Amino acid sequence: MNQEELKKVLQTIYRNIRCPACGKKYDFSNIHIKGFLNNLCFLQLECPNHLPLFATIATPLNSAKKTPVEMIDNNTVINAYESLKNYQGKLSEIIK
Ligand SMILES: [Zn+2]
Repeated sequence: MNQEELKKVLQTIYRNIRCPACGKKYDFSNIHIKGFLNNLCFLQLECPNHLPLFATIATPLNSAKKTPVEMIDNNTVINAYESLKNYQGKLSEIIK
């Protein structure tokens, strides 16, 4: 995934995903990239008032025309997350 694709994914998350408890939008500063595995992107979404949400985003590898978000699974990626938690993505370096 290149940075442009990643940016699209993050913008899609920002527009479409809200905290399931309070319905609040996740700000870019509350979307943390935990790691990548092939075309999967592991994310942690933090609501200031509720437990963080874990999400996996699948992105097409070679198709820029396709919608970047194909599938989102919440709270099903803990094992993968554990193995990737040392990765510290800097969102501020991607979105400017
Ligand atoms: Zn909330």
